[in-house]
Amino acid sequence: MNLAEFIIGIEALNANVNIPLIRKAYEFSERAHDGQMRSSGEPYIDHCLQVAFILAEQHMDSTTIAAGLIHDVVEDTDATIEDLEKEFSAEIAELVDGVTKIGAVYFSSREEQQVEYFRKMLLTMSKDIRVILIKLADRLHNMRTLEHLPLHKQKYIAQETRDVYSPLAHRFGINKVKTELEDLCLKYLEPEVFVRLAQRVKDRKEERDSYIKEVVKPLREALIKNDIKAEVYGRAKHLDSINRKIKYRKVPFEEIYDLFAIRVIVNSERDCYHCMGILHTMWKPIGNRFHDYIANPKPNGYRSLHTAVFGPHKKMIEIQIRTSAMHHIAENGIAAHWLYKEGKQEMSRDDRQMIWLRDVLEWQKDMTNPSEFLEYLKIDLYSEDIFVYTPNGKLIHLPKGATPIDFAFQIHTEVGIHCSGARVNNKLVPLSTELATSDEVEILTNKNQTPSHDWLKIVKTSQAKTRIKKWLKQAGQEQSLRLGRQIIERKLKDLRVDFPNDETLQEIAEKLNKKSIEALFAGIGNGSMAQQKIIDLIVPKDEQTESGFVSKIIDRIRGSKGIQVQGMNNMMFRFAGCCQPIPGEDIVGFITRGRGVTVHRLSCPSALELSSQSPERKIEVSWDTQKGQSFVVELELIVEERKNMLRDITQAIADVDTNVRAAEMSVKDTTAVGKFVIEVSSLSHLTRVFDKIKKIKGVISIFRSKGAGG
Ligand code: MN
Repeated sequence: MNLAEFIIGIEALNANVNIPLIRKAYEFSERAHDGQMRSSGEPYIDHCLQVAFILAEQHMDSTTIAAGLIHDVVEDTDATIEDLEKEFSAEIAELVDGVTKIGAVYFSSREEQQVEYFRKMLLTMSKDIRVILIKLADRLHNMRTLEHLPLHKQKYIAQETRDVYSPLAHRFGINKVKTELEDLCLKYLEPEVFVRLAQRVKDRKEERDSYIKEVVKPLREALIKNDIKAEVYGRAKHLDSINRKIKYRKVPFEEIYDLFAIRVIVNSERDCYHCMGILHTMWKPIGNRFHDYIANPKPNGYRSLHTAVFGPHKKMIEIQIRTSAMHHIAENGIAAHWLYKEGKQEMSRDDRQMIWLRDVLEWQKDMTNPSEFLEYLKIDLYSEDIFVYTPNGKLIHLPKGATPIDFAFQIHTEVGIHCSGARVNNKLVPLSTELATSDEVEILTNKNQTPSHDWLKIVKTSQAKTRIKKWLKQAGQEQSLRLGRQIIERKLKDLRVDFPNDETLQEIAEKLNKKSIEALFAGIGNGSMAQQKIIDLIVPKDEQTESGFVSKIIDRIRGSKGIQVQGMNNMMFRFAGCCQPIPGEDIVGFITRGRGVTVHRLSCPSALELSSQSPERKIEVSWDTQKGQSFVVELELIVEERKNMLRDITQAIADVDTNVRAAEMSVKDTTAVGKFVIEVSSLSHLTRVFDKIKKIKGVISIFRSKGAGG
């Protein structure tokens, strides 16, 4: 193809094409690639023309066609993006930049690299979707000319095309490119299969063509009689889809190939239904084979009527009926948006493919596990569609393996969030049930039902996943906020200080670089902000002399029995808060002015300090317990943050016949700190409690508190 032929060709496709721009792009590209050759021996510019022509065939706008002509100049010549911006426009420069960036990442079998690959590609595409259309055109021409490359490159490029480009073409509804890419992949990746299938198709071509004629002729006549202008033709299945049906559905070649397919293109939606009526009177329709994708478009925007009839000689014929606009969308998908829209490239916000792209991008932003992201992306990209019905008969498309929760989110986000159960074909089923084509699905909702983390393991669509994650994040935020507020309230109550008003709180928030009071409390609740920082701003440091709720309880419960001081009963004494001795442990007493004797464990650091500083205050004490007497001990636990943790701990303590006098849990990120005040009779009793608690799942460590007394 030379420039003159190219221009005649694109003008025939689009009368409004901007010829001066196209010429300029051609000349720029020719100059830049001057002297470069393709592996085929052709001048490099030929590749550029072919890529641009593929774009023109999709009725793309002049900007895209021009970008197609110069798509390789930045990668393969001295030209820079800045040059393109100066010479053409920022828009064209950005398109070429996007194509260059996508070309610079290489698909790899390593998972982390695959994730990065898709992330980069999706991000680049999201800035301007035309980037992927140019890249697909580029890849299509490279695949068409793949024979000129060495074998290992053929395999690599074909594999990458099969793994990445044809699924993307499918996702964006660019069927024409997708089917050609798939057949070319088959040719290079499974050459024996390709040759065998192509031969079998060729062998039967004559027979097949004559049968198609037998169908098309009377159909055309009937349509003319009914005043319907239509184009009617036979349609061959592409080799890759025949191959996949043989391989995965175990259908013999004859059965697939002898399934004749006809396409009818008409002028209006009304004519579609009219044509179908005529068809059904000519030949007997086959039940269950009728699909109205006009009323219920496929997720990638595809619209058409599908039906099947027993034609002449009782052979089965599949028929697709659509308008030419629908046909254009069926063939070119997302590219169809540029049809006759020269200069206006605004995408509709509702566009299904754009919604998909936005969902995937939003979701990868807070992706923590790369392999999980990849797994879901692959389901979105590669899995077959199933279709199920609402109780009202509305058709819903889902990927294979989807569950009622996916279905619920497809209906509406609110339905998804409050989804409490499902009926499939009038039977109650678990939410994890895999849906199958033609199931009728009814979602039960309950306003008290909300998503859980378990749902993330059940859902298959990135749409549901994104919505659930968003909800959980928000709910977590609210929970942190409540918890943070409670922590501060309790702390201030201990300090006997009033809770500050919003104005004061706002000031504190600003001092601590938080946007709002909510953010301040949420920070404490989720552990990213220390509560002490806030307390210090509310209460002057020297006034913070609380004893803490736990030590207050200990003071209150500690009795006056159980100790003999130098062999005497009824001496005034108290147990030190720092070490909380219990019977069975060695103890020592210290005389405190006005408070009698304070009893410490012999090993307590405070006791050791007192012994050396004021040995004169040291006094001998011994245990003198009575039956049934109990002693309080404060335990501190570090545990994993999980549901029912507090319940499991209190249960374990109760299991060894032990009273819990106070319990408190505070969450710090993924761990929680628990403080428990329990009553035990002796050291061996305490050991039993320890042993029991250690067996609880998620308990990281347990120790006796040092207490607040110091
Ligand atoms: Mn190229």
